[in-house]
Amino acid sequence: MKILIIEDESSIAENISYALSTEGHEPLWCETGREALEMLASQDIGFVILDVGLPDMNGFDLMRELRKTCGTPVLFLTARASEIDRVVGLELGADDYMVKPFSPRELVARVRAILRRASQAPMEQPAPSPAALQGPFLVDEARCMISYHGEPLELSRYEYRLLRALVENPGRVFSREQLMRKAWEDPDMSLERTIDTHIKTIRRKLKALREEDDPIITHRGFGYSLNLTAV
Ligand code: CA
Repeated sequence: MKILIIEDESSIAENISYALSTEGHEPLWCETGREALEMLASQDIGFVILDVGLPDMNGFDLMRELRKTCGTPVLFLTARASEIDRVVGLELGADDYMVKPFSPRELVARVRAILRRASQAPMEQPAPSPAALQGPFLVDEARCMISYHGEPLELSRYEYRLLRALVENPGRVFSREQLMRKAWEDPDMSLERTIDTHIKTIRRKLKALREEDDPIITHRGFGYSLNLTAV
């Protein structure tokens, strides 16, 4: 499979390249966002490894561009732990991230896991259930969409899964750990506090439609639940 490495530090790109080629992949490398967009448009690329700090644009903006046209899996590389919240908090639909320095072998293992999930996903989920109504929420699993008071919410993949878990079990209190298991394929890779980041974003999106309502209840030190009687 062709894997595009977008990374301006050549030593890192070379290490990744080498590790991927030992797995039988065909690594391609470019240093700028502009080159990356050209390569993505002209080649059949099955996976993207994207550095957040590029010379001509930041990885988040490039990701936004990329998501307009393709759903290729993306793994972010970030130099600073402080960027992690942005990587997972933004509604970009990244599949995973790694903080530098990392071991190329670990990266290859992550790539393998993401590709395996991507290839298994359609078989694990047979027929999507029809849209289900819960109070003011309408979950449309077939289209991975949730409407609130008839208005479709623009949710990232993780926000969708989190809110769906809450909507499908109104009143049930979930711990952060339980929510992580609902929303992430591999919860060990993520951090519990990222749940808080996503819940905050979901709340903001619900509030944008209904300023006065706050159907998500925080259970301090534990987790969250959805209260349908509040909306
Ligand atoms: Ca860089």
